[in-house]
Amino acid sequence: MNDSLSQCCLCMALHLYNTLSGKIEEFRPLEDNEVRMYACGLTVYDYGHIGNFRTFIAIDVLHRFLVQSGYQVRHVMNITDVDDKIIRNSSRAAIPVKEYTAKFERAFLEDTITVNIEQPIFVRATDHIQEMAKFIAELESKGFAYRTEDGSYYFRIAKFPNYGKLSKRDFAGMEDGARVDVDEYEKDNARDFALWKSPKPGEAFWDTPIGRGRPGWHIECSVMSMETLGESFDLHAGGEDLIFPHHENEIAQSEALTGKPFAHFWFHARFLLVEGEKMSKSLGNFFTLRDLVLKGHKPSSIRYLLSSVPYRNQLNFTFDGLKQAATSVERLRNFWLRLTAANFSEGATATIVQLALETVQRMKSALEDDLNTAQAQAAIFDMVRKANAAIDNGEIRKDDVAPLLAAMDKFEEIFAVLKDDDVPKMKSILEWAKSAGREQDISNELLEIVQSGALSSEQVNHKVAEMEQARRARNFSKSDAIRAELAAAGIIVENTKDGVRWKRK
Ligand code: AMP
Ligand code: ZN
Repeated sequence: MNDSLSQCCLCMALHLYNTLSGKIEEFRPLEDNEVRMYACGLTVYDYGHIGNFRTFIAIDVLHRFLVQSGYQVRHVMNITDVDDKIIRNSSRAAIPVKEYTAKFERAFLEDTITVNIEQPIFVRATDHIQEMAKFIAELESKGFAYRTEDGSYYFRIAKFPNYGKLSKRDFAGMEDGARVDVDEYEKDNARDFALWKSPKPGEAFWDTPIGRGRPGWHIECSVMSMETLGESFDLHAGGEDLIFPHHENEIAQSEALTGKPFAHFWFHARFLLVEGEKMSKSLGNFFTLRDLVLKGHKPSSIRYLLSSVPYRNQLNFTFDGLKQAATSVERLRNFWLRLTAANFSEGATATIVQLALETVQRMKSALEDDLNTAQAQAAIFDMVRKANAAIDNGEIRKDDVAPLLAAMDKFEEIFAVLKDDDVPKMKSILEWAKSAGREQDISNELLEIVQSGALSSEQVNHKVAEMEQARRARNFSKSDAIRAELAAAGIIVENTKDGVRWKRK
């Protein structure tokens, strides 16, 4: 292969960083055209925070880009509805586990829709407890697991020489048989980890053939991923905090059982910072998705900001950044509207058609380069800037509109921020806040947006078109009435030399 050809091939396929190999590799599914991917979802002991959504949106961008690249995607995401924190909180509150997690699970599913996450297949840990017990029994029969006196089960790390291959840690010299029974632990605690925990007094448990108890966190994902995707599948994803111990332990359990490679690619999103610091309740910089909406921020601005920095770079979330994201989304939406609403003269302008095609190519190359979302966004903004200038100079013709819109559509397939459905989503979070006793957190900004935005952009577009039709038919009383109706809903309609434009007050 000559140099230029090999370079060309390189730029024609998705390349992703694989934590397992420590390298950027070309991504190809193991079988045919179908990508089987698994992501660790939310632990439903609280509402999802913006760090969680940084990771889930990164995974969603991957999912969407795989679809855009022509793959069929089988994307499973688990819901961790039993782990140490859930057991602790539910037994403190003296309510059953299921009741404790139900409201957070429901909120999580709603939140994924709020930020336009392409829906994965959700699986719930508590629906797979018997399969987990069976998996542990098989590990025991192969010598990889052992039972302790209290009826708990542990994974014997010394039997799995590849332990540490994902997190690149050397555990040689580790004390055989030393154990750790908490789900989350630091790296120096690499010990035999709990697969199954016998219940302490007052704790929830399940009855299974291996005894009474509950699964450890790590076994949940091994079992659910292999059940839904097979023993070997394409990609496993999560935030970088999961590399060790969670994903290292998943590999150990799964590969010990099957003797086959577990996930081929390991995809990890870098941790989000908030105003330069690690997010924590004690620092006062901890925000759930719902907290931000209650402050009056639109889901589209949040999604845009969370996807604007490539997933392996650290994103520093700031409120200034969120305002800028809102402005960016607004500019894109206005451009879209300007293209669809204006009357252009017949014909095409070769440079504009070329610009649109190049933009599609630039976005594709950026995303193929380990999902460089920042460059993909930069490409669309270059196009919008140039095309807006061309409209101002009367250089855009009718046949340029379709290629420009096609480029916007390609962008939207990945970033999903152009469709203006923020207001109804914000309204339902407002209603939730009232029912959840969080009235004091409802900001005036949110109230204003919900009140003024009773009309969706699609409805406004429709009314503006109707108004224009009436005006052209010289039915001025009708066009004035529509203008007044729009003004009452906080919509200002302006006549410019390029046609009619509107904005919210
Ligand atoms: P958890 O509910 O803690 O199991 O987390 C759910 C997902 O969110 C996991 O993939 C975590 O790695 C990810 N996650 C948690 N905190 C952050 C953060 N600050 N930044 C990015 N991802 C995070
Ligand atoms: Zn997991």
